[in-house]
Amino acid sequence: MKHIRNFCIIAHIDHGKSTLADRLLDSTGSVTDREKQEQLLDSMDLERERGITIKSHAIQMDYTYKGEQYVLNLIDTPGHVDFSYEVSRSIAACEGALLVVDAAQSIQAQTISNLYLALENDLEIIPVLNKVDLPSANPEEVTDDIVDLLGCDPSEVIPASAKTGLGIDEILSAIIERIPPPSGKVDAPLRALIFDSVYNPFRGVETYFRVINGTIKKGQQIKFVATGKNYNADEVGTLKLKQLPRNEIKTGDVGYLITGIKEAKEVKVGDTITDAKNPTTEAVPGFEDVKPMVFAGIYPVDTEDYEDLRASMEKLQLNDASLVFTPESSAALGFGFRCGFLGMLHLEIIQERLEREFDMTVITTVPNVSYHAYTHKHPDEVILVNNPSDLPEPSSLDRVEEPYIKATIITKADFVGPVMSLCIEKRGQITNQTYLTPERVELSFDMPLAEIVFDFYDRLKTVSRGYASFDYSPIGMRPSKLVKVDVLLNGNTVDALSALLHVDNAYDIGKKMCEKLKELIPRQQFDIPIQAAIGAKIIARETVKALRKDVTAKCYGGDISRKRKLLEKQKKGKKRMRQVGNVEIPQEAFMAVLKLN
Ligand code: GDP
Ligand code: MG
Repeated sequence: MKHIRNFCIIAHIDHGKSTLADRLLDSTGSVTDREKQEQLLDSMDLERERGITIKSHAIQMDYTYKGEQYVLNLIDTPGHVDFSYEVSRSIAACEGALLVVDAAQSIQAQTISNLYLALENDLEIIPVLNKVDLPSANPEEVTDDIVDLLGCDPSEVIPASAKTGLGIDEILSAIIERIPPPSGKVDAPLRALIFDSVYNPFRGVETYFRVINGTIKKGQQIKFVATGKNYNADEVGTLKLKQLPRNEIKTGDVGYLITGIKEAKEVKVGDTITDAKNPTTEAVPGFEDVKPMVFAGIYPVDTEDYEDLRASMEKLQLNDASLVFTPESSAALGFGFRCGFLGMLHLEIIQERLEREFDMTVITTVPNVSYHAYTHKHPDEVILVNNPSDLPEPSSLDRVEEPYIKATIITKADFVGPVMSLCIEKRGQITNQTYLTPERVELSFDMPLAEIVFDFYDRLKTVSRGYASFDYSPIGMRPSKLVKVDVLLNGNTVDALSALLHVDNAYDIGKKMCEKLKELIPRQQFDIPIQAAIGAKIIARETVKALRKDVTAKCYGGDISRKRKLLEKQKKGKKRMRQVGNVEIPQEAFMAVLKLN
């Protein structure tokens, strides 16, 4: 144990976490040239394209320091607020963290909240000032920011460049000198923390764990405490670039486990692995079940693809335990699923994966958060509202509650005014304002989660010209004035376009939705009135004017192949349309409410 170091990297997106990780692998000889790829830790295509680490992974390095052989376990953490629970479990598996800060950008909100998580878990923090090679770097100023934040000595901050390799040796020695070795009980019953799992279609779910006490052995009968299930440890091993099977993984070390589990949801991040015959009496604290924050309907564009969509969703769920779904039906769209997501990024990822990996074309309906409704008849019985159609009749409603978050925003002093106006517009209440430096301000707000779902990130970026970072954590349910806004096309309610909105926003958003739909819905042979309504009350109206459109007419007498091409083009254009009644609605229209400004 004396020669093990477990650490993670805390960094804001783009501050250089992946590049630094690659450097460390490189410097410790953990990769051969052949294995070198750009950004080894980000394995999914989507992650690479978006430059973010979606799932956390772990990798082990061997390093000789002052003649002694050390094992360094780097536990990677996802860089987006949707996945903050996974970050917290990765942090709990470590004794230390590299705090990587971009020398040009300084500290951002996400970094601070992850740093607090690390400090709560008593992690040793090694501050790294990255990208000092950049001409725009501000090393003195950013070092001051770090010193202020950590209360450390300026000499503890390591200037580095993951790009040129500067400071990498200092970082490696700091990992060994400053981060304490693990301290577990070798003779106690097995107690290991699951900090991640990865779905492998051939081998089943791979569980990544950190042994806290005892030893996990190949062939051992083990138990997952939260799920209560027993398994045989078919294979245990070490996570090098490839998996390296071992006979056992000992106290303090990190490894993987294969048990033949075929479904991601059987392995819960944060759960404890113990010995089935001699179980630990104490589970690792901090376990939470995944809790979806955002809900939306997913429907096949072509109703005939419903069974294919179901099969695809089931497969996706095998490898993404945080995706939940139940069948639902819509008068407009037919059969589909109501899905729960960790956040908007997670929703986008699922939608993209369905399209790319499963070749599905889907319609996603207006997302909403999960509300609590109570009726006059049963004022103590909570009704979960995950779907506009779940909201009880307004006359029977006693009260509604909506989820609130504590939002933390760090921005430049110049943008405090516009950021505050935005947050107030989004029904936020300011709770704190702190000048971190004369230039940089941290603002805290209590805000409804629903307001984050609708275009908040984009607006924040605009009002701060990109100089704002944002993080949030849930703070519980609060009273809300919720209404269901329906959309009528040609006089018929299209249920898939309904949205749950706060009454203060309903008129404005209803009006903008009608305007947006007018832009998106193609003209047809008849006028199409578009109306927004709360109950029987119409709150906004637009009309798509009729147009007689015969694209082949102007080719009359022209050559036949051109005519066919045009028809094909028109057919293709139709592919993403959905016929509702006698109106054709393009796919984007169902998400229009998200893109109103
Ligand atoms: P991550 O989002 O924290 O994983 O950040 P990445 O490692 O993907 O880096 C983001 C961008 O910054 C990439 O284009 C890197 O090439 C670049 N980068 C990372 N470290 C350095 C550095 O030390 N100097 C410079 N100039 N660029 C860097
Ligand atoms: Mg990265």
